[in-house]
Amino acid sequence: MSPSATNYKKILIVEDEKDILHLVKLYLEKEGFRTVSAMTGAEGLRQVKAEHPDLIILDLMLPEMDGLEVCKRIRLNQDTALLPILMLTAKAEESDTVIGLELGADDYVTKPFSPKALVARVKALLRRLERNANNPQTLYHYGALMVDLSRHEVRLQGEEVMLTAKEFGLLEHLLRNVGRVLTRDVLLNAVWGYDYYGTTRTVDVHVRRLKQKLPLLNDAILSVKSLGYKLRESDMPA
Ligand code: CA
Repeated sequence: MSPSATNYKKILIVEDEKDILHLVKLYLEKEGFRTVSAMTGAEGLRQVKAEHPDLIILDLMLPEMDGLEVCKRIRLNQDTALLPILMLTAKAEESDTVIGLELGADDYVTKPFSPKALVARVKALLRRLERNANNPQTLYHYGALMVDLSRHEVRLQGEEVMLTAKEFGLLEHLLRNVGRVLTRDVLLNAVWGYDYYGTTRTVDVHVRRLKQKLPLLNDAILSVKSLGYKLRESDMPA
């Protein structure tokens, strides 16, 4: 049986509990993943820079710098803003879990967990993000909203809504990355381009205009404190 393409990916595990770290490492390597590890947040950040992992498994409770801070710093750095983050949390920290997702983790697993289940979640996350990245999809449905990228057309319950090019670009980028936190810098570069001289406030202004034109996005585009924006997965019927 040949391992799937995702299996050669490099996973960084940041966990201060040795037993858990070794167990997770063992199971990932058994599945063909390459692993690197760190036992503190600061070391984790150094490894992110040095090792360029494809995904990071990040424990929430770490000595000195906790997982939330690590997560935030990864997201705020242009080079690592889109690095997939799977957070490990304890049941008792459920409110932190929510905060973790708001601060930019892509998924989380609560302790205690089965290593097998964790590996399955890692694979699922990598697959999901890969699918998004290579997605040739041009037609999106989000609740009552229909967005046709190839025709630059937005319809709300069948009625065409006129957006400016930048508003459309923002919407497109949010739809293509649904469920992920996108920092203002990431959005600015994606929609306005690297040579644009405006400030990240520009992004806020355009998000506000987008919401004014499409009020159903009011609760759907979440503002993530000090980071950026996230279009949450649609729970509305298409
Ligand atoms: Ca811990």
